[in-house]
Amino acid sequence: MADWKIPQLNQEKCVVCGICVDVCPQGVLALQAEEVIFARPQECTYCGTCEESCPHGAVACSYEIGWA
Ligand code: SF4
Ligand code: SF4
Repeated sequence: MADWKIPQLNQEKCVVCGICVDVCPQGVLALQAEEVIFARPQECTYCGTCEESCPHGAVACSYEIGWA
């Protein structure tokens, strides 16, 4: 299987507000040691909710999902 695609997190833009952690419907994200981590990346459905919800543009879902 190809690399598992998860959203890209820009740590320099992230202010660790926790909004993305709260809105992720799959519980993928978590706060740990004052940073956001992908605690359960295999659960990510690439729904884009974290990208839409981040007020600082720190999350990017930049991959197109499709079948090759
Ligand atoms: S919503 Fe954005 S700024 Fe807030 S913790 Fe998530 S990635 Fe960081
Ligand atoms: S893309 Fe959706 S499932 Fe994946 S981390 Fe963001 S909010 Fe959670």
